[in-house]
Amino acid sequence: MKKYSIAIVGAGPAGYFAAQALQNLQSDEFKFQIDMIEKLPTPWGLVRSGVAPDHPKIKTVSKVFEKIATTEGFQLFCNVELGKDVTTEELTDIYDAVVIATGSDKGKKLGIPGENLRGSLSAADFVPWYNAHPDYVNVDIPLDTDTALVIGAGNVAMDVARMLALEPRELDTTDTALHALEKLHNSKIRTVHVFGRRGPEHAAFTAPELRELPKLEHTDVEIGECDIEDAIKRAEFIGEIPKDVKSNLDAMMAVAKTPKQGHERKLNFHFLASPIEIKGKDRVEEVIFAINKVENGKVIQTEDTYSVKAGLIISAIGYESEPIPGVPYENGKVKNVEGRVTNSNIYVVGWAKRGPSGVIGTNKSDAAAVMEHLISDLKEPKINNGIAKLLSERGTIHISQSNWEALNNAEVNAGTPSGKPRIKFTDRKEMLGFAG
Ligand code: NAP
Repeated sequence: MKKYSIAIVGAGPAGYFAAQALQNLQSDEFKFQIDMIEKLPTPWGLVRSGVAPDHPKIKTVSKVFEKIATTEGFQLFCNVELGKDVTTEELTDIYDAVVIATGSDKGKKLGIPGENLRGSLSAADFVPWYNAHPDYVNVDIPLDTDTALVIGAGNVAMDVARMLALEPRELDTTDTALHALEKLHNSKIRTVHVFGRRGPEHAAFTAPELRELPKLEHTDVEIGECDIEDAIKRAEFIGEIPKDVKSNLDAMMAVAKTPKQGHERKLNFHFLASPIEIKGKDRVEEVIFAINKVENGKVIQTEDTYSVKAGLIISAIGYESEPIPGVPYENGKVKNVEGRVTNSNIYVVGWAKRGPSGVIGTNKSDAAAVMEHLISDLKEPKINNGIAKLLSERGTIHISQSNWEALNNAEVNAGTPSGKPRIKFTDRKEMLGFAG
């Protein structure tokens, strides 16, 4: 029987689903040793540092990850960064194949004047801040303003807007980072405006997320009924409305028709508006929007503008991948053909492969298809001694699966007295105390 060794770089959903696909494809003829390498001291990727804390159900997929991780032939190496602790060349030499599953964590820029003012930031900084990512603990997020603006009509914008507009007590029994929870409790924000540059019929929100909005207990959500009626007319004019668009429009109409309770906290949705300038002396004070019209699905900016006073603006307009030395990049993702990186034994899965789209489950079928390619390309297995020796020679401390299990238990136990699912560590040194 042949035994191949595969390195998977990135311990997020795409990486775990790639490992699962390899485990499922093993046979009496060949088996895999899978070494998963992750730059953070903890695994789970976006399930830990991306999924909103008030969406605990989505995080239950971590049970699947742990089953994969405790299957024979799997090793975890957290706190090991590709390009720093180990090079791409070393991995491609040691392993039969290297799978890049590093996602996209750089927020796209609006590219408008004033974007660098204090109080203007990307969801790529805000989301890991409230999710206790160790590198984002000190992000400066001024919440001493009554109004916040969120740019983008996708699910990340929705998460960001909800986190700002919720009554923070609703987060007390979640795993929101303690530093964020404290700041959110003291937040002066009472109105959050979300802006989509196209119409409701083009919004990238998904219906389940929209259907949650009327259930917010302490926040009035406003979507203009006229906006949805106009969107329906525009969509019908083009032809039969696609099923997912219809579900979205139905969900938005339900929000529009929900009687408002007179709550102090408000979450308002606006469409056909693009920010063109952020104004302020030392920090964000006002944002100028251009009114758009849509022709054939394309945004056309008109000459008309309006302005909104606000002290915080968060853009949630998509992500790009940070390039890894030794891996070819193109248009914010790894250059690949169906997950294969040409002329190498490198493969790519998840957002690093296809760009930042799709929900967690999308990565399952995507990774499985790439792993079939990987298997069909395999030749004779290399003699592989893994990277443990190399790391210890370099003095790189790594968190293994059993170390992670101890860390995980400590976090869960710390949360129990206050009814939280866990209290996440944010300090690398503390986390690395579990190594060895
Ligand atoms: P997304 O779904 O692609 O949405 C990005 C939004 O930003 C779109 O509305 C887009 O408008 C807008 N946008 C792009 N460039 C812009 C610009 N220059 N000015 C103004 N608006 C601009 O991306 P995402 O929200 O980052 O989400 C990424 C993926 O993660 C999605 O597949 C999402 O469903 C998923 N996700 C899922 C959940 C969940 O299941 N609960 C939670 C979070 C994220 P156009 O359409 O006009 O380009």
